[in-house]
Amino acid sequence: MGNDNKHHAFSNEMILEIIRNYSNDTIYFKDAASRFVWNSRAHAAQFGVDDPSEMIGKTDADYFPKDFAARARKEELEIMETKIPLISNIERLEKPDGGVVWYSASKYPVLDEKGKAIGTWGISRNITALKTVEEELSRTNEKLKRLSQIDDLTGLFNRRYFYEMIEKTAYQYDRRARTGSADDPKNTFSLISLDIDYFKKINDEFGHNKGDDVLRVVAGVLTAECRKSDMVFRIGGDEFMMLLPDTPLKGAKVQADRVRSALASAPIILDDQKDPIRLTASMGISCYADSGDVAELIHIADERLYTSKNLGRDRVT
Ligand code: GH3
Ligand code: MG
Repeated sequence: MGNDNKHHAFSNEMILEIIRNYSNDTIYFKDAASRFVWNSRAHAAQFGVDDPSEMIGKTDADYFPKDFAARARKEELEIMETKIPLISNIERLEKPDGGVVWYSASKYPVLDEKGKAIGTWGISRNITALKTVEEELSRTNEKLKRLSQIDDLTGLFNRRYFYEMIEKTAYQYDRRARTGSADDPKNTFSLISLDIDYFKKINDEFGHNKGDDVLRVVAGVLTAECRKSDMVFRIGGDEFMMLLPDTPLKGAKVQADRVRSALASAPIILDDQKDPIRLTASMGISCYADSGDVAELIHIADERLYTSKNLGRDRVT
């Protein structure tokens, strides 16, 4: 062997024994039929085998679940054929007890002097702990993402998410229009802009906290009155938006009137001594089919809301 022993006391045999006995990563060599030729203690230990040499001549199929072994065999045939190693492949192994183990596995061809592939060798690292942390991180990210879309006070979607969703929705309908299904009158979406009438008075009379309660009640009414596919947003203060997919202007009008009467018939009791307060809202509606772009769609709804306010409130324009 070409190892130069002059400057240290490490023999090749010793190095090989150390790797075999003490590597925490599992290491194996297999022949062309994917039978074990040599494997490390850690490799044997994962199957509860103390002495790795007991495994010589056996294959993955003797130790792993069928589909896992079959996939490994396929990979090895390909590695021998192409002589291209498989590096840091993430493998998922389901244990008989239901537990899941993750590995990062690399496999290489073993070539003879003539360059002919006569087998494979590989090394795997258990990355289950890393995967667990990664999964937790991704769950946390999902949660943070959801939180970033939510209005704290009411639990509705917030202003930021409104702009994101209206752009996304417009994009989807633009695409649909291009692919030719635009003849259906329902193939557009609408917007309701809503602002509570004289909300300041409620704050003034009952205090800001009760005002917050009212905003939550209104949020509940808006949510209850819409379809599953509709989305309700609190834009800020006492201003809300409803995004109505597959809805032409006529449908938006019906929906806005429904919200108006629901608000009228939802008495809000803030003070036991007093009569329930009657809350109204003004609304403006717009339809994507009638506007050039998202900015115009929002602008029209807001303009019409303003008109509703000027005409005496408690109405839809
Ligand atoms: P209008 O009919 O013209 O809409 O009159 P308004 O009194 O409702 O006035 P406007 O919509 O312009 O103002 C909304 C008020 O809502 C202003 C502010 O005092 C109040 N407000 C804004 N954000 C909050 C909040 O988070 N909680 C509470 N309680 N009040 C808020
Ligand atoms: Mg208002």
